Amino acid sequence: MRADGPAVAPVPLGTNAALAPYASDPARSRGRRFAEPEAPTRTAFQRDRDRVIHSTAFRRLVYKTQVFLNHEGDLFRTRLTHSLEVAQLGRSIARSLRLNEDLVEAVALAHDLGHTPFGHAGQDALNTCLKALFAAAQPGQPESDGWGFEHNLQSLRVVDHLEERYPAFDGLNLTFETREGILKHCSRANALRLQAHDTSGVAARFVVGGSPSLEAQLCNLADEIAYNAHDIDDGVRSGLLSLEQLAEVPLFERYRLKALTAYPQLAGRRLLFESIRLMLSDQVYDVIDTTRAGLQAAGLDSADAVRTAPPVVAFSSDMREASQVLKTFLLRNLYRHPQVMETTDRARRVVNDLFALYLDRPGELPDEYREREHLPRAVADYIAGMTDRFAIREHERLCGTVLFP
Ligand code: MG
Repeated sequence: MRADGPAVAPVPLGTNAALAPYASDPARSRGRRFAEPEAPTRTAFQRDRDRVIHSTAFRRLVYKTQVFLNHEGDLFRTRLTHSLEVAQLGRSIARSLRLNEDLVEAVALAHDLGHTPFGHAGQDALNTCLKALFAAAQPGQPESDGWGFEHNLQSLRVVDHLEERYPAFDGLNLTFETREGILKHCSRANALRLQAHDTSGVAARFVVGGSPSLEAQLCNLADEIAYNAHDIDDGVRSGLLSLEQLAEVPLFERYRLKALTAYPQLAGRRLLFESIRLMLSDQVYDVIDTTRAGLQAAGLDSADAVRTAPPVVAFSSDMREASQVLKTFLLRNLYRHPQVMETTDRARRVVNDLFALYLDRPGELPDEYREREHLPRAVADYIAGMTDRFAIREHERLCGTVLFP
């Protein structure tokens, strides 16, 4: 971390700098699952980004929880605005490192498509439901229940199978590189299962090791930078966190003091925003400096070399540590705040009840889900696709109890 602003050599503004040799080049993409002619005016990654934006799952993100339920306030982040912020941070860093901005944007906008309603509470509930069913299964129970539910895998499922937009194939038929970035984590067991069905090699690194593209690595880190910053903002806005409490987080306190040094009268919302802004800028410069040094040290000169090397997009060790302290603070004081936990409990109940109910009464499912071969997975896909408010309404309709008045 630097005390006095960026020392990184900027890319001249307004120019489209050539891609670095280690960037992902759309002309050398590993291709799509189903061969398609190239578009005349857009690269393969631009096209992926456009397909994501036009998808149904993307539009649903606006009504899905990040931390606060969608109806708790109009100004809190949703999965959609979170994804846009990840794309902004990712592109900004990508341009400076001469990585492929279009790929970064495609991955960033798609990375949360598989999130259930109610954020992690919804995912945990669905995972528990599927695993319990599998544990109790009779011989012959389809093995796919054992996969459980995992949102990164589900994001891939959305773009590979669940979107229905094209005449010739299911899903969005995105390039390998975008799919690789979307599958940011995967258990080894699920990677092996995925490989049995999918020969593209998208899960291979979770079995044999290796790294994803630099653009995918960057989206991971941009995700973390984005939620740490906006959860401070939303936390204070909600009244669950205070600036006084945040004084115990050295990373935040450093920038709050810096803001006050420049503007001694600054207070309230503007002080909060300025502190977060300074923190974001410094984290972006830190990633650019650290990554550039790492690329040089490792001598990486191609996108393929990146895949066999350890991950290189990173914070400096000081910033990594400081960011970890902030994450721990947010976990203790915001994500586990009694008020957040209380809505989380109700959200879990909605998902549990809906899962049991649809299994019991498949007639309540839309035709295309009811008619699928394997009911539990169809139910999981249906629930995962719901927005917060649709899940709440559906729960009220089917169970008659009002959990979110
Ligand atoms: Mg995210």
